[in-house]
Amino acid sequence: MFLTVTSTEKPATNLGYLLHKNPQRPQTHELTFGKAHVFYPVANDKKCTAVLMLDINSLDLARTRKKAYMGLFDYVNDRPYVSSSFLSVALSQVYSSAMAGRCKKKPELVDKKMRLKAVISMVKCKGGEEFIRKLFEPLGYSIAITSYMLDDKFEEWGKSPYYTINLENNCTLKQLLNHVYILLPVLDNKKHYWIGKDEVEKLLNHGQEWLAEHPDKSMIINRYLNYKKSFANIAFDVLTSEEETEEREERPVSEEALNLNQQRLGTVMAVLKSEGINSVIDLGCGEGKLLKMLQSDRQFNNIAGMDVSVTALERARDRLRLDDVPEFKRERINLFQGSLMYRDKRFSGYDAATVIEVIEHFDISRLAAFEKIVFGYARPRVVVITTPNFDYNKNYENLMEGNMRHRDHRFEWTGDQFQNWCLDICIKYRYSVRFIDIGDKDSRQITPTQMGVFKR
Ligand code: SAH
Repeated sequence: MFLTVTSTEKPATNLGYLLHKNPQRPQTHELTFGKAHVFYPVANDKKCTAVLMLDINSLDLARTRKKAYMGLFDYVNDRPYVSSSFLSVALSQVYSSAMAGRCKKKPELVDKKMRLKAVISMVKCKGGEEFIRKLFEPLGYSIAITSYMLDDKFEEWGKSPYYTINLENNCTLKQLLNHVYILLPVLDNKKHYWIGKDEVEKLLNHGQEWLAEHPDKSMIINRYLNYKKSFANIAFDVLTSEEETEEREERPVSEEALNLNQQRLGTVMAVLKSEGINSVIDLGCGEGKLLKMLQSDRQFNNIAGMDVSVTALERARDRLRLDDVPEFKRERINLFQGSLMYRDKRFSGYDAATVIEVIEHFDISRLAAFEKIVFGYARPRVVVITTPNFDYNKNYENLMEGNMRHRDHRFEWTGDQFQNWCLDICIKYRYSVRFIDIGDKDSRQITPTQMGVFKR
């Protein structure tokens, strides 16, 4: 089976630079399951085609399976002959630079949209032509599909589930390769290897830029992750939180006085300092505003920031100038992606955890999981949580009665609701709590933000 990529954008041989493969020189790459050959049947100014051909040895493939009993099917099957996750793995190894968008010699080509054609042969797809279109058409491809009879001599047996797919699009090479990388195993609906947590990372790595908008994203995620629900949930959270981050930018929380955020972070800092905290993890750190303050205070010698959104983390990295600061400063700060919905060893070992304006983004039904993860498993000595006070919303003139301050918020609690929840946590997890009001008081002595400071 093979994947061809053709450019007709003059000078078409630029494709060779983008793929990091010289059109004059055929190459062979050794993979764990066989060989991948790259060669160019055509390479001139007007047209350039690169072929990635996979040569899998069916006996080797069978032998790598560690099974007590090998049946005939382990030796005789379609795997060595179809474009499946094996081809995706080959792509990621042979075209890794192109997929990551690296091109040393002509970097300006990386983001250049070009008229590109690709042919993928042979794809097994039980969902048929309609399913293939459903995956690729929303990404802007025009598609031609060749189907095959199961056996030419026996027409009544009907069509086989195998297809050759011709794709055409005006896009960057990086986009095309990443689309194919993810969608191949989705079409085939099988993975030749064990699905671990790193598969979520791969999915996000190769799909982050386009998957969130795909109308069938949940089906793609589920199939790609072999229907592993917990993994699919993480991927889904990340992708939808990316959408939320973007929405947030469009609609700033204009209702809040500008300095409320500063007052909030100032209070968090004061609490951490007075509690003699040296190491702290900011859970749901967003773009790293609190981390920035922690970074410039020497009392804090071990700082971590965690968020579900990769985009937010990238912004935090910029804000903290992690790529510029000296090594000793960088070592104090660790940023990582995770989710407050899943137990994670990396949340443990800090004196304090801060959860600033985050809980209101959770579905209420998932709060119990959050409590268990922070107060039950991570169990830092101090936990600081802030959330909007719903009682204060009356003061926002342009907020309709009963509405919340932001459309990402799943709930906003009154003072009583928040305090009851906090007290309940104290009973369940053996903590004590005190409450601090943050922001300017209204005529009823209510403030816009409420804070709970928990101590073990
Ligand atoms: N604490 C920051 C950001 C608040 S916005 C600040 O005060 O500026 C809420 C943040 O929670 C977002 O960055 C969002 O990505 C993050 N978030 C939402 N759900 C999450 C989850 N399940 N796990 C971790 N972070 C989450």
